[in-house]
Amino acid sequence: MSGSFQIAGGWIEVVVGVMFSGKSEELMRRVRRAIIARKRIQVFKSHLDERYAGVLAVSSHDGRTIDAFPVDSSAQIAQRIDPTAQVIAIDEAQFLDRGIVQVAADLAGRGRRVIIAGTDTDFRGEPFGPMPDLLATAELVDKLHAICVLCGAPASRNQRLIEGRPASWDSPTIMVGGHESYEARCRACHVVPRCDESQVAIPFGVTAEGMRHSGR
Ligand SMILES: [Zn+2]
Repeated sequence: MSGSFQIAGGWIEVVVGVMFSGKSEELMRRVRRAIIARKRIQVFKSHLDERYAGVLAVSSHDGRTIDAFPVDSSAQIAQRIDPTAQVIAIDEAQFLDRGIVQVAADLAGRGRRVIIAGTDTDFRGEPFGPMPDLLATAELVDKLHAICVLCGAPASRNQRLIEGRPASWDSPTIMVGGHESYEARCRACHVVPRCDESQVAIPFGVTAEGMRHSGR
């Protein structure tokens, strides 16, 4: 241990964007750079949704590796914080409870650099979980975009599809173990039918599957 974990001041930086926008890659890039800078780092990853389960490891070019702790609550992160860690990175933060806002603030208040990545909007295009509060309280915010699979514009929305059709507004915010799929879409191409309009959400004669493929 270098004993050099005296940091003048801490802060929170948030990387948000839709799925496929590269936000996890950006988080890992920052973690890799912190590894190169020989900082003490902890990485946490929400695994509320089964698809995100599993331990991920971040490695740097010199062969050092950092494992990410899978967590499903802000309390678990608070319990597992290594008091000597200088940098704390949290991926998939949208699935965490709102307690993560205070956990991040406390860490920053104690001089830590807190890097958070997450999807800022749910499949409806509405603010997702604790992300709005994290964005508001962070010192640094980067919003990344994917590419709309239908028109090629910058994509800012997560399009949920169930059996190839846009999922209705009433489907749950988090579907665990479901058969849904997702696409990145722009605001204009994003479709979230209300229950009473689900029959007219797709243009006549065009299937959702056809719309999807036409944009690729
Ligand atoms: Zn589009």
